[in-house]
Amino acid sequence: MRLSIAVLLGLLLANCSEPADTAAVPDNTAPAVVQTAVENAVDNIVVENTVATGDWDLGFMAAVANPYATDAAATMLARGGHAVDAAIAAHAVLGLVEPESSGLGGGGFMVLYEAESGEVRFLDGRETAPMAASIDMFMNDGEPMPYLQAWQSGRAVGVPGAVALYKLAHERYGQLDWAEIFQPAINLAREGFLVTEKMANYLPGIANIARLDENPGSAEYFYPNGEPLQAGDLLRNPEYAETLQAIVEQGPDAFYTGEIAEAIVASAQAEPNPGSLTMEDMAAYEAIERPAVCGPWRELTICSATPPSSGAMQIMVANLYDHLLPENASQEQQVQAFVDAQRLAYADRDYYFGDPDRVDVPVEQLLDPTYIESRASNPVAPDAMPEHGDPGMVLGEAAAAVFAPDSTREPAGTTHYSIVDSYGNAVSVTMTVESVFGSNRWAAGFLLNNEMTDFSRDYDPALPEAANAVRPGARPRSSMSPSILLDADGELYMVTGSPGGNSIPAYTAKTILATEDWGLSVQEAVDFPNIIARGQTVRVETGREPGQALADYLNEAGYDVQESEGENSGLHVIRVHPDHLEGAADPRREGTVMTTAPL
Ligand code: GLU
Repeated sequence: MRLSIAVLLGLLLANCSEPADTAAVPDNTAPAVVQTAVENAVDNIVVENTVATGDWDLGFMAAVANPYATDAAATMLARGGHAVDAAIAAHAVLGLVEPESSGLGGGGFMVLYEAESGEVRFLDGRETAPMAASIDMFMNDGEPMPYLQAWQSGRAVGVPGAVALYKLAHERYGQLDWAEIFQPAINLAREGFLVTEKMANYLPGIANIARLDENPGSAEYFYPNGEPLQAGDLLRNPEYAETLQAIVEQGPDAFYTGEIAEAIVASAQAEPNPGSLTMEDMAAYEAIERPAVCGPWRELTICSATPPSSGAMQIMVANLYDHLLPENASQEQQVQAFVDAQRLAYADRDYYFGDPDRVDVPVEQLLDPTYIESRASNPVAPDAMPEHGDPGMVLGEAAAAVFAPDSTREPAGTTHYSIVDSYGNAVSVTMTVESVFGSNRWAAGFLLNNEMTDFSRDYDPALPEAANAVRPGARPRSSMSPSILLDADGELYMVTGSPGGNSIPAYTAKTILATEDWGLSVQEAVDFPNIIARGQTVRVETGREPGQALADYLNEAGYDVQESEGENSGLHVIRVHPDHLEGAADPRREGTVMTTAPL
């Protein structure tokens, strides 16, 4: 398996390293270095040469889920681009080569470290519900629509946020031309790329449960002549190239109004279970800058995505963990404290988090050290169902909020990447189409999201509304937790995050605890078994060492352990050391790390 991935990646890279965009390379670049990096990317190399671009002496690094996309990011960085330029270039390529995970038809979140000011910013490109969406739009005769049906429905499609996020980020930070950053993706779409195993492996199976092989556009693209694409097939997507070209020439208006928007609306309004998305919904979309959520942990500061996302859980889990950790803890006890911290934090997240523009999410109270201490002093019995706490009561204020219980389900279709540029800026970006291949609906060369199923779909008029209820124009709650950690001096320290639906907070928190408390390198932390403790069960990835031993220990301690052979994390992490950058790509996906050596 490993060998075949390596061989495939070798092929990919051979194709990718064709300098198709050489003509667009400005004079101040060092394409030869990037070329070297591409040739070696399979092994997560450090390039020996350096690139004279920024003013930061640690060089640059990009950790991304697909080598074509890592290459696009590194190319932009080598040309002196800002991390944001690299992020957009990488994502435009990911939308082409990893369409099962994210793309132009989806949305996402970018957390950004500004080297000059030392500030951490958060840009929200989450999809929005159409204005005609209703709280009961996923209900049929008092029962929630079965997930498979909801997933494939037009109702699941929200206004995509990716392109508006690109524009907002580029306007604020971009150093390269808007046109230049889309060139790698346009070239690959026109000239072709090699289908990866990850994408190809999904195709036969998904045809049995979803409409990817039936919907107009997606059927011909993914199943030419009725047969699923195979790993290693050369695939072109001229329609995607045209769409990107229109975005290059006309900006986001090309996407949110006009022909591309019309294609999106028509696809969302198609049978079965048409949605209500309109041209007005498309035109009204805006990416939003919100304050990042930051909180102290030990001598570090953890910053992440505020609601509608769940990044605050990183601060909750780390601080709960410290209260729950016995002195001189063994590895098993460390993992048990991690499990108990997650159970408490997930219960609060599930209950309180929703769109902050629609409900009052008590993030500050949930992060209050007094509340965290009180919460940790009442851990949940291993065999009990964790309940949410009430920070309002603990802090002597009014009850935090009253919501119906959450029933959100989040399967996997997402990607995460981390980038540090040669000026010392960093971005932590998680982008999604929600489920695998999103709604499986196609428009203008890409797939549309099914992000509306990230709302709590269940609705009972006799209960108060869930925090994450469907509301017109609202953003569904997300688990995505792109995070940036700062050291005691407020300097950039770590960039981390993962896909994985509801398991994202658990996957991401593992990288923080494992590097800081369990003595693991970044790659070892990424490789370490994933452990997810949400609700009554604890899932332990026994397919990786020492997963089985940890599962046995937790079982013995009375937890309801579910052993899982593999987990769908896609952790791409960078840690900043005083004299070098350390990066890791998740072996569970196909990503790579590219970097320059320290000057
Ligand atoms: N749509 C999910 C969210 O926003 C992510 C799904 C995934 O990670 O695959 O949290």
